[in-house]
Amino acid sequence: MHSLRCPPIIGAVADITLLQGDITEQDVDAVVNAANGSLMGGGGVDGAIHRRGGPAILEECKQIRESRYPDGLPTGNAVATTAGDLPARWVIHTVGPVYAKSEDRSHLLASCHTKSLRIADELGALTVAFPAVSTGVYGYPLELAAPVAIEAVRSASTGVAEVRFVLFDGAAYQAFEEALAG
Ligand code: ADP
Repeated sequence: MHSLRCPPIIGAVADITLLQGDITEQDVDAVVNAANGSLMGGGGVDGAIHRRGGPAILEECKQIRESRYPDGLPTGNAVATTAGDLPARWVIHTVGPVYAKSEDRSHLLASCHTKSLRIADELGALTVAFPAVSTGVYGYPLELAAPVAIEAVRSASTGVAEVRFVLFDGAAYQAFEEALAG
């Protein structure tokens, strides 16, 4: 007997939602990690995801480094691993740009979002949670990062039905709320 898989419906993301909270608690198909190029863990969201998700995530990150990215994951790119013990099924690791006043790196920040959605499509993920990539240790001002993130998701052609931005504090939530309204 043959089974037919329905092709994913590719188009604009139907729902872009905002939530103030912790991304590690999200019951979505995939959570996006604001990783660094080493894929070996770090602080902020990265630390929280590895802590709550357990060692299976780092194990797969190490394999990805060895097999595909010996020099590290380039800025603006994304790769997927298991989500380990998290409620989500997958973690999509992306490397945001470090903010620089002297250079516009917004295309790299946009690329984190479009490439993460492309990986989500390859996985068949329909719901994806993003943190505010680059706005922590990487220093991107929230009022600059939020419109770039929202616009990249809005203009993406993807099978993902819901993108949920999970903002850690009130300031981040407000910046994304303004960008979504704009
Ligand atoms: P980057 O290195 O890309 O700047 P960070 O992890 O330092 O990444 O910060 C990105 C954003 O994620 C910041 O706005 C930070 O407040 C937020 N953040 C930190 N921990 C969490 C968490 N558990 N869930 C959601 N957002 C978080």
